[in-house]
Amino acid sequence: YNHSHEHHNNHGDHQNLGLAKQLIGEAFRQRVESVDNEFCNPGDEDPFFVADLGEVYRQHLRWKLNLPRVKPFYAVKCNDDPKLMHMLATLGTGFDCASKNEIELVLKMGIDPSRIIYAQPCKTNSYVRYVAEKGVRQMMFDNPDELRKIARLFPDAELFLRILTDDSSSLCRLSLKFGASLDSTDGLLALARELGLNVMGVSFHVGSGASDPKAFLKAVQDAHWVFQQAATHGFDLKTLDVGGGFCSDASFEDMAGVLRNALDDYFPAHSGVNLIAEPGRYYASSVYTLACNIIARRIIGEEHSQANGTSYMIYVNDGVYGNFSSIMFDHQHPVAKILRAGKRFLFDTAAAAASPDANAIEYSVWGPTCDGLDHITESIRFDTTLNEGDWLYFEDMGAYTMCSATTFNGFSNDHDVIYVCSEPGALALLGRL
Ligand code: PLP
Repeated sequence: YNHSHEHHNNHGDHQNLGLAKQLIGEAFRQRVESVDNEFCNPGDEDPFFVADLGEVYRQHLRWKLNLPRVKPFYAVKCNDDPKLMHMLATLGTGFDCASKNEIELVLKMGIDPSRIIYAQPCKTNSYVRYVAEKGVRQMMFDNPDELRKIARLFPDAELFLRILTDDSSSLCRLSLKFGASLDSTDGLLALARELGLNVMGVSFHVGSGASDPKAFLKAVQDAHWVFQQAATHGFDLKTLDVGGGFCSDASFEDMAGVLRNALDDYFPAHSGVNLIAEPGRYYASSVYTLACNIIARRIIGEEHSQANGTSYMIYVNDGVYGNFSSIMFDHQHPVAKILRAGKRFLFDTAAAAASPDANAIEYSVWGPTCDGLDHITESIRFDTTLNEGDWLYFEDMGAYTMCSATTFNGFSNDHDVIYVCSEPGALALLGRL
């Protein structure tokens, strides 16, 4: 691979990023130029994604450079696009599944059951029977009822005790719902022993979209303490699962640095403990860019004749009930850029981005449904006048977007994805797109 990857903080200066922009831009150009809003068939102007599978490959190299001892199990819930999953499978990751359907999806790809963890502490009985039959053995527990359920339905399962973390710095808190407190782990381990169960490791999750690296340090320290506690109950724990929570932006290097050092201190290589993780957002977010069409516009303040008095509400054909579900469920703030205005194709140019000039034209951006909640952006300014038929694009739209989109108001949630691959090495691995 390219030598620029040998720096830990390398993501921005990879030579193939230029190629990525070129390929993504070309895919967008071809598609939007094929749509004429005055004559096209219903739905031809629907939103669509461009996904660069080369980005998955770059993210994987970046993971291996920063967390070389930690094997990732991709969290399928985040985006179950078969091409993304296939790329990850080819790169050798495992898969973190939360339900029977996710497990079935991964098994159908021909993935060995040992590469799957059923990372859900509170499981459906019939799903536990399903995984027992399929030989997916690794699963989580965090309370006595769940231990009794597993003892009944799948006594041979390989269990991880999921512990609570301080997730207060994360976007999506998970410890409100899951995780054993450290004053309950002793009782849980005693019960597991009494039931004859097979506790193999400890897991935690610092919350999705975490921003405080210290959360990882504290969680690793707590996990180490539970490893020692487990030994007093006769368990020889083999695996630590450090969960997800990693972002794909520049904060990754900081997070990974703190985690790497904590692991080296508390679970050094000679301890023989396997290290795994459950990243979702990290692998999916930056792979997908979404294009939406401006389907309608409303002029605000038209009655003011003075300059700069006019602002616009623009309505695009995707919203919070669709791929912008991430605004509601994932606390995101996607930022619009201009893809095409009239005949001007602006992808990846300075003119595409929001203008810092307070005199630039102000827009609010709304989704297509009847609901006032369906609101993407309160206020954004562009130097360009946007009209019906123009296109906007939004970057970093791969995580927790399409997976939680609905068809409310009859809008489709099944959008085209155009795949490109900006890493020749990845393309060689895949064979074809
Ligand atoms: N593992 C579990 C158990 C989760 O609940 C989640 C997200 O909710 C993930 C992994 C993925 O987290 P992230 O996308 O923050 O990496």
